Amino acid sequence: MPLHYIDGKFTAGSGTEKITVFDPATEEALDTVPRGTQRDAEAAVQAAKLAFDGWRRTPANVRASLLHEAAAKMRAHKEHIVRLLTLEQGKPIPENDEEFEWLVNTFDYYAELGRHERGRVLPSGEYTQLNLVIKEPYGVAACIIPWNYPLLLMSWKVAPALAAGNTVIIKPSELTPLSTMYLAQNCFDHFAPGVINVVNGFGKEVAEPLVTHKDVPVIAFTGSLATGQRIASLAAPMMKKLHLELGGKDAFVIAEDADPQISARALSYAALTNAGQVCTSSERVYLPASKAAEFTEALVAHIRTLRLGAGIEPTTDIGPMIAEQFVRKVEEHVQEAIGKGAKVLTGGRRPQQLKKGYFFEPTVLAGVDHSMLIMSEETFGPVIPLMEYSTFEEAINWTNQSEYGLGACLLSSDPLKVKMFFEEVKAGTVWINDPLTDNYAGPFGGMKMSGGARELGQEGLDEFRQTKHVHWEFAVAAKSWWYPYGQ
Ligand code: NAD
Repeated sequence: MPLHYIDGKFTAGSGTEKITVFDPATEEALDTVPRGTQRDAEAAVQAAKLAFDGWRRTPANVRASLLHEAAAKMRAHKEHIVRLLTLEQGKPIPENDEEFEWLVNTFDYYAELGRHERGRVLPSGEYTQLNLVIKEPYGVAACIIPWNYPLLLMSWKVAPALAAGNTVIIKPSELTPLSTMYLAQNCFDHFAPGVINVVNGFGKEVAEPLVTHKDVPVIAFTGSLATGQRIASLAAPMMKKLHLELGGKDAFVIAEDADPQISARALSYAALTNAGQVCTSSERVYLPASKAAEFTEALVAHIRTLRLGAGIEPTTDIGPMIAEQFVRKVEEHVQEAIGKGAKVLTGGRRPQQLKKGYFFEPTVLAGVDHSMLIMSEETFGPVIPLMEYSTFEEAINWTNQSEYGLGACLLSSDPLKVKMFFEEVKAGTVWINDPLTDNYAGPFGGMKMSGGARELGQEGLDEFRQTKHVHWEFAVAAKSWWYPYGQ
């Protein structure tokens, strides 16, 4: 059983209970982790706080080497990490191969960015002065991670936080802690004790004590809007630095000029990757009414060729969802839409042939509108609701009507439409003709209720640095504007 990792040691912590981790494809137990307590969270804060001064004073070149070494160790353990990730998280191996690439490359990327600069020099007011803008680490960063990309989303926080000179406490999701613990056991042991800590457990029992702890100035969180709001309300009185990556309800707009066959494949990928459990999954699709029949036919035909199964099987296109309660939410959204007049064109239920596991058939719904949950709330499952627009301006208005603003996709080769789309749409990322492709140097994050944090790029490093302005006068003498006045 993997334990907590605190102060460079593996410990069972102060609790007596365990959390069982299940394979979502088989519902069989994979392993257990200790159910952490407030005392375990406090022990991790103590360790991270003690390690902070040593780590922030470590030369940036040395920190860079240590981050690269972590990436090198991960590469040496790739096969095992990808397998464990597939078993505990469920998505197919190619998607976990991709998550692994993001994990290691993010450590390498921030190793380099962390030694590139630490601020800037300003033109000073006088020749005898120097004005510096210095970027400093905050201290201990709590990194609270969801289950849908356990390692990628961990790396997007932990790598820049460490590169900036903070120490970290990772709180993995209670549903997917095993791959993170594997990293702690095999890839982090060259960091000084306390620089990286991992505490397992439930949000209320372990993460909330971190959020409210006076010695944790930064809370980096990816997860649901409801949890983000809870964290924000707990942290507000302490004026903490909040880095919140929350939910989404991304629109996918197909323009009239798009090719139906390419659209079918692009949309399926955008909506069904990780069984639709991506924060930027396309969850609302707007089709031109003039060509809706053609696009719909191509989409349904393509989706019927996709194979549902355990992620660990090489032939699987779509794996299970993470747990029963998430399948129930998808069912509720689909049933409510049907009750209000939507039509199921394919899917719409749990697969009959798979007796175990949290599967839901890839589903296409037509005849939806914005009064339905499937078009207004985050569904987080393999469902594609199609709605027809009559003008492109209407599609843009609909794209913007969600309370979320994480991402938005457009398929079009018409430059006027493309420009209008990316200028008018309120979303942190706009993808044109290549949905859901991120870039290490490109900031990722949301607008509106999706949270304002940015991960990746220079912006992702700056989330973990605070700014200090130093004004330095060399010519020491009394200034004419000091007291007494009137002389
Ligand atoms: P969640 O909010 O239930 O849990 C996320 C993490 O928060 C887990 O580690 C959990 O233990 C912890 N947590 C739970 N209650 C807490 C509390 N009261 N205080 C502090 N921490 C607490 O989310 P989830 O179900 O794991 O993930 C799915 C959600 O994450 C979806 O809404 C999805 O859109 C969002 N998400 C967003 C992004 C993004 O970058 N914007 C990326 C991936 C997922």
